[in-house]
Amino acid sequence: MKLLDGIKLAKKTKKNIRQKVANYVTEGKRAPHLAAVLVGEDPASNAYVKMKIKDCEEVGFKSTLIKKDADISEKELLEIVHELNENKELDGYIVQLPLPKHINEDKILQAIDPQKDVDGFHPTNVGKMALGLETFLPATPFGVMRLLEDYDIATSGKKCVVLGRSNIVGRPMSILMSQPGKHANSTVTICHSGTKNLEEFTQEADIIISAIGKPHFLTSEMVKEGVIIIDVGINRVYDESKKDYKLVGDVDFENIKSKADYITPVPGGVGPMTRAMLLENTLLAYKRFAQ
Ligand code: NDP
Repeated sequence: MKLLDGIKLAKKTKKNIRQKVANYVTEGKRAPHLAAVLVGEDPASNAYVKMKIKDCEEVGFKSTLIKKDADISEKELLEIVHELNENKELDGYIVQLPLPKHINEDKILQAIDPQKDVDGFHPTNVGKMALGLETFLPATPFGVMRLLEDYDIATSGKKCVVLGRSNIVGRPMSILMSQPGKHANSTVTICHSGTKNLEEFTQEADIIISAIGKPHFLTSEMVKEGVIIIDVGINRVYDESKKDYKLVGDVDFENIKSKADYITPVPGGVGPMTRAMLLENTLLAYKRFAQ
């Protein structure tokens, strides 16, 4: 079993970005600039945005946090989005999800200028991704693809099962894995809550990418020897021995690891790569507009 170390690769990626930014600044150019819009007090969203701001500092990006109360109206939020679209000093921005129930998320995401949509959630960018055109790839699937590439994992012609079909992870993941390319080109099956006898698919799979959000969902009996496991899931569970909460993936790591050729840990696998890929997307936006 070989561990796919997302912390190590994210560090290498950030070092690379930091060097590029330092070169731009030495040449007298401005640093890349990422903004984050955070609505409400959801603790997880707060924590994610804080980490994103910290990542920006680490690589020398400028960052701006726009924090709004949960009772902001959809109209006011749309005005902020329009201002950010017009801001010539800003390369990209994200609107942290989820948004409060009274705000139509799709409406907000569709109002973001696709050229600044570094989360890659705008339909224009999703369409470009599906067509294999250069665009901002959603950070989590992008991070998984980078891991596969960096570890030079043979994926071509392999049976890949993606668990989950969300717009931010499962669906884009299935599209990217099925596209031509040395570290893609898999035969992809996408499973979801409507899938019958799911283990029949996972038992046949050479590669399993799980993005379900259920702790220890994928068990040892559900996979074959030599499988490659990418665990996207992040689940908070109570650890009786430590009398505290801990994060676990969708995969029963301890029991599956001896069967797997490669496996991502949780934490320390896909999570750090997701953060690093947002920086990559911001750098791409910067290169397009600020040069
Ligand atoms: P969603 O809840 O949006 O999607 C979950 C998907 O899993 C849905 O498609 C759902 O099916 C499917 N599903 C749920 N239960 C089952 C089941 N019993 N059998 C088969 N399919 C099932 O979650 P996300 O995609 O946003 O996130 C998934 C996980 O990944 C979460 O744990 C999240 O925290 C984590 N995550 C991690 C990131 C990282 O950086 N590591 C980034 C983003 C998310 P259906 O569509 O039919 O409802």
